Amino acid sequence: ALEIGRDVGRSIVNARLFELERRMTAELRRADRAKTTLFSTVHHELKNPLASIVGHVELLKENPTGDATWSLKVMARNTHRLQGLVDDLLTLSKVSDPDRPLVRERVDLAELVRDAADMFLPRATQEDVTIHVAAPEHAPTAWGSSVELARLVENLVSNAVKYTTDGGAVTVTLRPLGDKVELVVADEGLGISRTDLQSLFTEFFRSTNPDALEVPGTGLGLSIVQRIVARHNGTISVDSELGKGTSFTVQLPRADGGDQGQ
Ligand code: ADP
Repeated sequence: ALEIGRDVGRSIVNARLFELERRMTAELRRADRAKTTLFSTVHHELKNPLASIVGHVELLKENPTGDATWSLKVMARNTHRLQGLVDDLLTLSKVSDPDRPLVRERVDLAELVRDAADMFLPRATQEDVTIHVAAPEHAPTAWGSSVELARLVENLVSNAVKYTTDGGAVTVTLRPLGDKVELVVADEGLGISRTDLQSLFTEFFRSTNPDALEVPGTGLGLSIVQRIVARHNGTISVDSELGKGTSFTVQLPRADGGDQGQ
């Protein structure tokens, strides 16, 4: 009976190991496929602006007396696009690296919110968009990387301003919520359709809404935001209505609330 019991035990262990191996192989295959897709999208995204710059250089070379102003304008636009893409790709790869340790410190989120509001003030003013900041005097602090959390706030505020039309408002609210700190970035902009909401955090995803597509972007901002939130053991949710506006809610562990997220 002891022998039979041992055999049964062994076959249960073997079955479990087999199942674990099967799941790991499937996960590795999925990760590999995702990487290949990402590589080909990166290639595609870099190829077009580069081809445009090369084309205009050739055009100017062949016809030096041609319309240089037009060519330079197109080249400048594509160079900026490439610059933004390379910068976002680098950030995305950094915040996606599980081996890259997160250097945690006490981060004053209210300061980051005010900095982001200042940063996007010129663009907002240009587009007749107002930015309101609602943060308590002694706003709760978060526990994490100040560089990454600054990027998170900047990306959300940047989108809110970018996708809000003339006369609209962007409101950034910071408040304590138990052992968490909550950041809400709300706008009165274009809104996001239900279909688009499902792909919002996918790399390179850009809305199918023609009004949103008119606004330049890389489609990487929200992927970066999502990974930073995950690295900080936080959560993110989005609420949106087409034509009315969007609000992103981020909750992060509080540094001064007892739970230091470690
Ligand atoms: P980008 O803004 O560079 O295109 P993001 O990853 O930041 O890339 O956003 C992905 C898409 O989600 C955008 O192209 C836009 O269509 C939509 N989106 C993001 N934020 C907002 C917002 N606040 N209001 C409306 N649409 C938004």
